[in-house]
Amino acid sequence: MNHPSKDKSSEIRDRSRRNFIKALGGVGALALNQRVFGGLSPLPHIENPLEHYPDRDWEKVYRDQYRYDHSFTWVCAPNDTHMCRLKAFVRNGVMIRAEQNYDHDRCGDIYGNTMTKAWNPRGCLKGYTFQKRIYGPYRLKGPVVRKGWKEWADDGFPSLSDNPELRTKYKFDSRGTDSFVRVNWDDAFRYTAMGLQAVAGTYSGEEGKNRLMKDGYDPITLTHWNNAGTRTIKLGSNLPLHGLVGKFGIYRFANMLALLDANVRGVGPEEAQGARDWNEYTWRGDQAPGTPYATGLQGSDMDFSDMRFSKLVVQIGKNLVENKMPESHWLNECMERGGKLVCITPDYSAPSAKSDYWIGTRPGLGDLALLLSVAHLIIENKGYDEDFIKKYSDLPLLVRADTLKRLRPEEMIEGY
Ligand code: SF4
Repeated sequence: MNHPSKDKSSEIRDRSRRNFIKALGGVGALALNQRVFGGLSPLPHIENPLEHYPDRDWEKVYRDQYRYDHSFTWVCAPNDTHMCRLKAFVRNGVMIRAEQNYDHDRCGDIYGNTMTKAWNPRGCLKGYTFQKRIYGPYRLKGPVVRKGWKEWADDGFPSLSDNPELRTKYKFDSRGTDSFVRVNWDDAFRYTAMGLQAVAGTYSGEEGKNRLMKDGYDPITLTHWNNAGTRTIKLGSNLPLHGLVGKFGIYRFANMLALLDANVRGVGPEEAQGARDWNEYTWRGDQAPGTPYATGLQGSDMDFSDMRFSKLVVQIGKNLVENKMPESHWLNECMERGGKLVCITPDYSAPSAKSDYWIGTRPGLGDLALLLSVAHLIIENKGYDEDFIKKYSDLPLLVRADTLKRLRPEEMIEGY
């Protein structure tokens, strides 16, 4: 219910406030008019605004972003294996941006074979922003050593096999929990050399063998150990195509550790053993290990451009749309030529959405069961190239169910 006297008083108050603001606005507008508008000239009549644009200097700032002093072509070679040729633009000695070089068709081998133009375009946003990582605030600016590892080194590399509790002390068993300490380059090389020497010494000879056995290594893993601790040093190189340092340099380094073995065990050149390189492509499963075992071919022997001419492309364990961006155009080209796409994934992924058939397997053994069924059908219907698989694959090799060893011809063919 309204209160009459209260309504009256608030009406008077509102009215007087409105009058005050109105009066103030009038005075303000007058002042503003004289101070601001009084100082402006009237707008000239302009037929074509573009010809009379007052100041376009700001456009130079925009255009200047693309000015560069020189450029160079490089190959982007991270772990994703695409090796895109990119072009970098440099200003004031700093790489400012990158774009695709669009010249893959001009690359060739020593016999003059070149690639098709269809390899272009290549590259992705990670490659195009490479300079951000080079100059970024989080880049690694010098060598670092894991703190626990350094303490282990500074304590004289006491044997971890003899004192397993030291693995906890020096944080060998709590990956990701330790911090890193900066060292200078001289110390980085010194620690590396000391570490190699310590491992070679700890795992050489009878004492070394006992330690390895105590650590639970299967005796079969010692087949090529040959008493040399250097043989227990695993050097990991990068993908085969990552260049001379990434692959061949590491192999050479592994061989060179025979010099260390000669020093540690006091043996001559005939007996000295180097270390081994286990490149991540074949040994750590970056490439499905089954591929070279079954087909005798490294993945690098296959050519993505084959997809352009394929009638059927099956993606399994592969996502060309989201993870292999420079290669996803091959799928488009397969589709353009009437080929069919099949995608086998647990989720309805981006390539699944583009495929003619999506087979949604369950995570776990679903894909294995599917592949075994496919293999079964291929064998049943003789849908294989017999000559090829005999020459290039291990498919003709059978494993005996009783001994779990390979079936030898002499076990089947009398007098073989
Ligand atoms: S796909 Fe991207 S990150 Fe990979 S090599 Fe090409 S540009 Fe570099």
